[in-house]
Amino acid sequence: MPDDRPMSNATVRVLLDAVEEVMGANGTKAVLNAGGLKDLIDNYPPKDLDMARHFSEYGLIQQAVEDFYGPRGARAMLLRIGRATFRFGLKDQPAILGLAGIALKAIPEQKRMKLILEKMASAATDRINQPSHVREEDDAFYYIQDECPCRWRPKHDKPCCYVSVGAIMEAMAWTTGKIYKVEEVACISNGASNCVYRIPKEPSEEE
Ligand SMILES: [Zn+2]
Repeated sequence: MPDDRPMSNATVRVLLDAVEEVMGANGTKAVLNAGGLKDLIDNYPPKDLDMARHFSEYGLIQQAVEDFYGPRGARAMLLRIGRATFRFGLKDQPAILGLAGIALKAIPEQKRMKLILEKMASAATDRINQPSHVREEDDAFYYIQDECPCRWRPKHDKPCCYVSVGAIMEAMAWTTGKIYKVEEVACISNGASNCVYRIPKEPSEEE
């Protein structure tokens, strides 16, 4: 395992709140217990920006959900958890995306998507200690994370960062009112150098 990487209390807290929203309090306890994370039960980190937690812990919470349901069953849960992390993150820290004074509705949809993805990448880089950036191609945007908690999870054959996929999906739904089929196309846990998410420019359905 590489050296661990600090992460804020609030980031881990948002993930735990999201797990609890999707799985309920008892389900969350069962998952944390089975995943060897007993010390988190009834002992969530505070919602502050102290860099007192670690990427490994964030990764192991996701891994605990995956192990509990099995890789196939866990996918839908992790996507829902990811969607909740975006909502909770924004609720706890409404200024995190730096959108004050920007009239989002006045911006054409694809430009708005790109703006939100770029704001998420700079918030991740500055606040979450997760260097991230956005690349645009003709038919899609690519959201690229240079570091990811999955580096501290067991190796996977397929991309496993469904929490991030869900968070990006929710961000796009929040931005446009539509569902975009976000896909992780490269993953550090499969040996790639970054986790890369493809966001098509065309939605798959109205929400
Ligand atoms: Zn990944």
